[in-house]
Amino acid sequence: MSDLRALAALTARRIRELEGRGTHAFVDWEGKGPGARGQGPGARGQGPGDQGSGARTEGLDTGVQEGTLEGEESRGLAGEVVAVKDNICDLMFRTTCCSRILEGYRSPFEATAVRRLRDAGALVAGKTNCDEFGMGSSTEFSCHGPTLNPFDAARVPGGSSGGSAAAVASGAVSMALGSETGGSVRQPAAFCGVVGIKPTYGRVSRYGLVAFGSSLDQIGTFGRDVASAARLLSVISGRDPLDATCLDRDPLHTPGPAPASLAGTVIGIPREYFGEGLHPGVAAAMERAKTRLRELGAELRDVSLPHTKYAVPTYYIVAPAEASSNLARYDGVRYGRRVGEGAADVRALYGATRGSGFGPEVRRRILLGTYVLSAGFYDAYYGKAQRARERIRADFTAVFASGVHALFTPTTPTSAFRLGENLGDPLAMYLSDIYVCTANLAGVPALSLPIGRDQGLPVGGQLIGPLEGEAEIVRIAQALERVVGGTEEVR
Ligand code: GLN
Repeated sequence: MSDLRALAALTARRIRELEGRGTHAFVDWEGKGPGARGQGPGARGQGPGDQGSGARTEGLDTGVQEGTLEGEESRGLAGEVVAVKDNICDLMFRTTCCSRILEGYRSPFEATAVRRLRDAGALVAGKTNCDEFGMGSSTEFSCHGPTLNPFDAARVPGGSSGGSAAAVASGAVSMALGSETGGSVRQPAAFCGVVGIKPTYGRVSRYGLVAFGSSLDQIGTFGRDVASAARLLSVISGRDPLDATCLDRDPLHTPGPAPASLAGTVIGIPREYFGEGLHPGVAAAMERAKTRLRELGAELRDVSLPHTKYAVPTYYIVAPAEASSNLARYDGVRYGRRVGEGAADVRALYGATRGSGFGPEVRRRILLGTYVLSAGFYDAYYGKAQRARERIRADFTAVFASGVHALFTPTTPTSAFRLGENLGDPLAMYLSDIYVCTANLAGVPALSLPIGRDQGLPVGGQLIGPLEGEAEIVRIAQALERVVGGTEEVR
């Protein structure tokens, strides 16, 4: 038995244990059991996906059997086990975006990011739970049911990449891919006590990432520490001819050792991120982390990003507008589920398929997006949101041009909330993105790292960098991580 085969068996055992505890971080994994590899009822793949699943699995299994870890030290991820969010296309596992409309769907191609991590020697453990099409902040909007927070089963893991965050936090895998449209890697990273990085827009190819809000979407990475999340990011980054919005850049370097000092580094503390609604436990953790940054020799500077207050309303116009357009493709003809076969006309088929295939949050976004893009309201809402987005972007440009190397903020206003707490109140749910969605609107890189515990629950701190400033925020985060006491109580 090869090393990779043994690693796959060990991973399957770990995932089974995790799932046995009811965490529900995974929706499809190696060894899920008979039928897991088969096409679900009503699934219609395209191209290679149409061939018998048995034949395909056999080929892939052989690939696993022949893999070996020996002599692969030079491959960046040899021996690493990586989980992949269910909205990133993969040939081995189903890609459902945790939506009934893609039930049982198998992608005929693999995302560039997934191909790169396999090429680097990683074992892909399976697909993780998420809010339907990435829309949500708690993983409660998954058609497969919610993921539970590994620290407290009565609480959410955050979202939308909650399954990936919980998979890393529980130790079932060492790293994971998630996706961000408005904070969906950093927010669950904060709630689950792991590190999450959202790169600069265009740093990682979006080829094979199922589109939600295309001008905001990026694949991001999770790790147990800053170095591992950054290492995974370096492997998946870099130019890709298959994505026209991917930056024409070499892959990021793997991170070096943590620096012992931050002398000469200027860290901006934006006052708009410390206002009303910031929970005392999070505020206390931030104060302690700021002290540590000063002790490391960094200069902390009070700065202002005056248009921050427009971020949540702007995001919740831009993202639904793009989503309503991107999700038009799920019509019962091209992908996945079809309901209303034999309907009188094509409209009835679309209506029956979309009406039964999409969950409540996705329907809310499609309605909102269609409304703000409609002829009479376009200027009042979408046009205005685009102008506000420009102001938010300009705030970041100005602050980084003033000599600030990075910004330090809380990742979220609170630690993990309870299951069901915000389900009936979309606005309360949207407000948990208040500190994270700005980076997506501006396209800048940002990461969340654990900075302490409040009554046993993890608290995250966020570093935001200038465009293409990933190396800088990783360097600062590595220094802070060593001294911050990320697993210690703050009050
Ligand atoms: N929570 C945000 C939303 O619901 C962000 C989602 C994301 O980043 N994918 O849209």
